[in-house]
Amino acid sequence: MNRRRFLTGVAATVTVGGFVTARVSAEDLPKVSEDDPTAKALGYVHDAAKGDTTLRKPDSNCANCQLYQGAEGSQWGGCAIFPGKAVAAEGWCKSWVVKA
Ligand code: SF4
Repeated sequence: MNRRRFLTGVAATVTVGGFVTARVSAEDLPKVSEDDPTAKALGYVHDAAKGDTTLRKPDSNCANCQLYQGAEGSQWGGCAIFPGKAVAAEGWCKSWVVKA
């Protein structure tokens, strides 16, 4: 292996290593605000009990929604509807879909 090829391999390894360490867990994501325009449009609330009573199924919340990306037992986690933000496991919105 020549010197140039070796250095290219080292740079790629550092880049990949830097990416891995720069990743944040879902618990570290900024929490979505109930005042966020998308949150308002979807009736998102941090407390499912305060969700739209005409649409919300009993016991439905983010933790048992198919779109919730938080770990089992987490209090906050990512959601496909709110990329880069965390929703409350006890939250709810109109896009709730039963977890398969
Ligand atoms: Fe919660 Fe599901 Fe709505 Fe996301 S789509 S905010 S996980 S209820």
